[in-house]
Amino acid sequence: MIPYSRQSVNEADVKAVAKVLRSPFLTQGPAIASFEKALAKKVGAKFCVALNSGTAALHAAYAAAGIGAGDEAIVPALTFVATANAALYLGARPVFADVDPKTGLMNPKDAEQKITSKTKAIVPVDYAGRPVDLAAFRALAKKHKLVFIEDGAQSLGASYRGKPVGAQADMTMFSFHPVKSITTAEGGAIVTDNEAYYQTMLAFRTHGITNNRALMKEKNKPSWYSEMQMLGYNYRISDIHAALGESQLKRLDSFVAKRRARAQKYEALLKNVSGIISPPSDSEVAKSAWHLYTVRLGPEIADRRDEVFVALREKGIGVQVHHIPAYLHPYYASLGYGAGLCPITEQFVASEISLPLYPDLAASDQAFVVKTLKCILNTL
Ligand SMILES: *Cc1c(COP(=O)(O)O)cnc(C)c1O
Repeated sequence: MIPYSRQSVNEADVKAVAKVLRSPFLTQGPAIASFEKALAKKVGAKFCVALNSGTAALHAAYAAAGIGAGDEAIVPALTFVATANAALYLGARPVFADVDPKTGLMNPKDAEQKITSKTKAIVPVDYAGRPVDLAAFRALAKKHKLVFIEDGAQSLGASYRGKPVGAQADMTMFSFHPVKSITTAEGGAIVTDNEAYYQTMLAFRTHGITNNRALMKEKNKPSWYSEMQMLGYNYRISDIHAALGESQLKRLDSFVAKRRARAQKYEALLKNVSGIISPPSDSEVAKSAWHLYTVRLGPEIADRRDEVFVALREKGIGVQVHHIPAYLHPYYASLGYGAGLCPITEQFVASEISLPLYPDLAASDQAFVVKTLKCILNTL
């Protein structure tokens, strides 16, 4: 099976991990701060906190934003469930906004209509690796005094108006799951320029405990003293994972360049294939990290998506659908959400297929994907 995505791990990565395994610290050692510093520098942010998953990172960011019981966070309907779930963890309610029918990115106008007196944060997602309209969301957050958290799980390595994604929202989250831009196996991070958010997330990651003398409530305590100031979690990343992340980060630009080249190849190969709508290409403003290559079937055949999907899988092509809107899952139904909330998202997802895309995707495999897809469409 040609997977829809997979990691690229080389000997340098293996060596970086082995070095930690032979060192005194497997966790809570120097590799974590080293990775955080490298990532902050790469995206042009002041601070970075690495955690043991992107989901933990979202939880930490929402907590730092002060989201609590009774609050609302606006999230796009077209995302992985974690973006919405992180609000539920804190007793808040995710409110779903609809997306742009071409890009699949949260529509700032629909998001604005969903703002209420309870809204605390707005959390657009860089779907498929393409940055959202960061300027529009920044303006919206400012106007309504909301915290702007960017779910950049899919977009590390993307840029907006010539600057890397990462220092343009109040906080930006990245995921290092093996299908994302770089991997730590499991892992995630938040980057921010805000020191107060940074300190809160550092403590949140480790039970709410701080060792920082300057931040302690109790003064003049002996040096063994540490202080639990809030309810936190064990969301620490290990030094093993962090070392893998720092080694991978060195190849981020080349990973994204390879993804982009393969996306451009798909675009050229699929240009005149009737019934296939390719995702928008990069623009001057927004350059995607090309996490996914998301084609949609045109309106004349959209209702046959599942047939096309199954036929591709039968030929050994590991296509996927991104994403089932969170509110259509049974758990969300039990909370009172239901179909019809975001009709454009529902239509988008119903016609969507993610084709295999990753840095080491072979040219012959890519040609096979396109040839097979054309064949299947011809027999519909
Ligand atoms: C992958 C992903 C997450 C969750 O990240 P994990 O590291 O798997 O916990 C959250 N949001 C989006 C949009 C994602 O793609």
